[in-house]
Amino acid sequence: MSQCIFCKIGKKEIPAQIVLESKDFIAFYDINPVSKGHTLVIPKKHIKDFSELVTKEADFIKKYLEFIEEVRQVLKEKYNPRGIRVTFNTDGLIEVHHVHCHLIPVYRH
Ligand code: 5GP
Ligand code: ZN
Repeated sequence: MSQCIFCKIGKKEIPAQIVLESKDFIAFYDINPVSKGHTLVIPKKHIKDFSELVTKEADFIKKYLEFIEEVRQVLKEKYNPRGIRVTFNTDGLIEVHHVHCHLIPVYRH
């Protein structure tokens, strides 16, 4: 999708602070973080939302989950949070219509 901001980040047409990258996926810091280390993980190819993601091949979905887990381990090492929320927003909660997983570190008080 030519107008999609996350497709553009995937193609490096607009900058983002990259946490980790593979051939098919990219993780980058959220521009408006909810907590320190808040990261978004996306497939480089355009998939519009969670409902479309579940229609994709099992192998692709597994690779996506494995990449999310890799990123989670990087954030765990780097920030030492109590835990990391792993979430997909849906429906009226979506601001960017390119599927993305939020990794949100939660800290001890
Ligand atoms: P959602 O669609 O799940 O509500 O959230 C979209 C997220 O993308 C928001 O947390 C927002 O801050 C983030 N975001 C929107 N545009 C950009 C951008 O251009 N760059 C980065 N790094 N994050 C963005
Ligand atoms: Zn896109």
